Formats: sequence, C-alpha cells, structure tokens
Amino acid sequence: MTVAGADDPAARSDSAAPLAPGPRARAALAGIPTYNAGQRPRVRTDLTVYKASSNENPYPPLPSVVDAIARAAAQANRYPDPASTRLVAAIAAHHDVPADHVAVGTGSVALCSHLVSALAGPGDEVLYAWRSFEAYPICVQVAGAASVAVPLLADERHDLPGMAAAIGPRTRLVFVCNPNNPTGQVVHAAELAEFLDAVPPDVLVVMDEAYVEFVRDPQVPDGIRLYRDRPNVAVLRTFSKAYGLAGLRVGYLVAHPEVAAAARLTSTPFGVSVIAEEAAIASLAAHEELAGRVASVVAERDRFVAGLRAAGLHLEATQANFVWLRLADRAAEFARACEEAGVTIRPYAGEGVRITVAEPEANDRVVAVARQFVTANGPAGEQ
Ligand code: PMP
Repeated sequence: MTVAGADDPAARSDSAAPLAPGPRARAALAGIPTYNAGQRPRVRTDLTVYKASSNENPYPPLPSVVDAIARAAAQANRYPDPASTRLVAAIAAHHDVPADHVAVGTGSVALCSHLVSALAGPGDEVLYAWRSFEAYPICVQVAGAASVAVPLLADERHDLPGMAAAIGPRTRLVFVCNPNNPTGQVVHAAELAEFLDAVPPDVLVVMDEAYVEFVRDPQVPDGIRLYRDRPNVAVLRTFSKAYGLAGLRVGYLVAHPEVAAAARLTSTPFGVSVIAEEAAIASLAAHEELAGRVASVVAERDRFVAGLRAAGLHLEATQANFVWLRLADRAAEFARACEEAGVTIRPYAGEGVRITVAEPEANDRVVAVARQFVTANGPAGEQ
C-alpha cells in the first residue's frame, strides 16, 4: 500500500500525472515514525545470548500461571468474553475501584492508542515529555491529531512547569510517563500535584505507570490514589513488565467511567484473548509471589547500577527495570560492544542506550563492556 503524499511523485499536488490506481492510506499517515522494537539477539554457538532490549522480566511466568495458560488453551476454539468480565472484576478488586472504572486491552500500548483516538482528532493536540515512550507520537499521528513534545530537563526528568505552559485550547490529553521510558526518571508527588492543579478539567492526564511496581522512591505518587479525587486523571498499568506476561499482550486502564467507556468504544472487539485473560487473573492471584520476583529485579538493578558506576560511567538512579546511559554519539558503539558480548540492548542513535536489568550474567557482561569502554574512551554518560 502507498501512503498518499509520501515519496510517490504521482501523489504530489504539483504533478500533472494521474494518481496510480489502488488503495491508499490516509495522507495523515505520511512520515509516521515506525515503532522501533527492541531487537532479538542473534543465535550464537560460542556463548549464551541475552535480550536486554525490551524491558522484559527475566523470569518466566509462575507455574500456577503456566497452568492457567494451559487450561485456557484448551478453550481456544471459543471467542473470549468481549467484556473480559472476570479479569475486569479481578483488577477492580485488586485496586479497590468500581468495575466500570476499568478497561482492558492488548497491552497498555493499545490503551494509549484507544485513549488518544477517543479524545483527540484533527485540530487537537496531545502533549508529552520527550524523549519518552515512542508509541505516543505514533498513536497521536494515527488519530490525526498533533503532538506537542516538551523536552526533558537536563537531568532527564519531566519538565512539568514547561508542560503546563504548553497546554493550550487545543490540548485534549497529556501523557505523564512515570517512571519515564527510556530514562527511568520519576515525577514526584508534590510537583505532580502542582501540575495537575494547573491542568484544565477538560484535559485528560494519563499517568503511564508501566514500570510502577519497580519504584522504590517513596516520593513517587501512586496514580491510582490520585485518580480517585481527580476526574481528569487516568492510569495505565500492564501485565507485561513486573508480571512477566509481555508475550500475551494484556494491560489496563483505571479511569472515571466516561473515560473508561470512551477507551472501550475505540478498541477492537475481542482483543484480550482467553489465554491472556486467564493468565492475568492467575497472576493477580499470585501477586505476592510475583512481588518477590520484582524485589529480586530491584536488588539486581541496584547491583547493576553500582557495577556500571564502579566501571566509571555516570548515571542517574533509575526507578524502572532498565538503566539509561546518555552516551550521545557513542551510543551505537556501546550497543555494538554489548552485542559482541552476547547482550542485545536498545540504542537510540546519537542519544543514548537503554539496558534492561536482565539475568545477572547479562548484567555482568554489560559491566565488563562498560569497563573496557571507559578505559578506551574515558568516562561517559555525564548527565
Ligand atoms: N508504556 C510504557 C512507558 C512502556 O515502556 C511500554 C512498553 N514498552 C508500554 C506502555 C506498553 O507496554 P504493553 O503494551 O506491553 O503493556
């Protein structure tokens, strides 16, 4: 399929040539960024390879969750419950919120898209910090709305006063990514309260809390506590990260009923599969056991950060299950060296690298790469 207005000379308005026949995507999609998913490691015969490029959980699902998946697989000839009633009830009970405040989707990325499509269209603006989760600009452009990206501060945190100042009459939705992907930095309760007080009541603030379970900083607010008193706050959570179900695609929204209903309206029917629904219910039931694994990832994160610092890299403390090294034009080189060592990480050309806290062996290899890198180049990653 071609994209009208893209490189096709026949599509240019100054061209006398007729349009080539055939289906065409909307002109609004021209130049849309592609989602740059974390690469998979290539298979090697000389060493075990590790994937540290997508912020996944290194632990496989718990045995009780695998059992639920196997049982659900036997019902795969049937459509799922279109309302995911049992999962919605389990999430509502888990957070002590009414069921009509919950909407589920095929990962929280789907809910980002549903919310943007529900609230913003041509002529509207969606605001977010940048750099942040790379799906935001894509969802906004697909909806035909315009992105307003407010640069992060020098210490990689959201510039909340700058974001408040960028809100205008066209702003319909604001994403606050807490902790922020890819920098791992957080927004604190006091600055967020000040920001929320400045946001007009008809602008929805979506707290994207994909990594919230890894947060240990007591000043980070719980979005689900905040949304209760603020009708224009919504929260996104996922089973992909702390719960370790990235491959099954299930996430959720907690919001006031009108917002949750709008997100349901724009979603594809039967999105959450029977398998994903049962696995998510079983994971909520095993919540405490999974919290133990999250604690192990957090302990490993602290060990990893200490190792990188001891190697001579300067990095901010992260609150997520990944670290960010602002290596600027050395990002690609560092990623290549990690790849060589059998660990696939996520480079952002010219900006930095994001490395998931993975298996201890993978983290040790990255620290060894960092040591060699600093010896060869001098300290890097000053922030
Ligand atoms: N929000 C943020 C900040 C993320 O980093 C991600 C995953 N990379 C998501 C949402 C989406 O996760 P999922 O669709 O797997 O729930």
